Amino acid sequence: MKPKIDHNLCTGDAICVDICPEVFELRDDGLAYVIDDDPDPSLDDAIRDAVDSCPAEAISIEE
Ligand code: SF4
Repeated sequence: MKPKIDHNLCTGDAICVDICPEVFELRDDGLAYVIDDDPDPSLDDAIRDAVDSCPAEAISIEE
């Protein structure tokens, strides 16, 4: 499962980072980034949770 963040939508509230720090990171520019391009399948549920919890609907899943 490959998550992607639309930086035009991300508001930097870091909810995704709280939910799944293995995959998401907040950087100095105030935006969240995907730090693991090929996350372990054991993180799928947390990634889905981050997608559902993102208030800006900025996270999508490629596969
Ligand atoms: S939860 Fe959404 S809006 Fe918030 S930092 Fe993550 S990607 Fe950005």
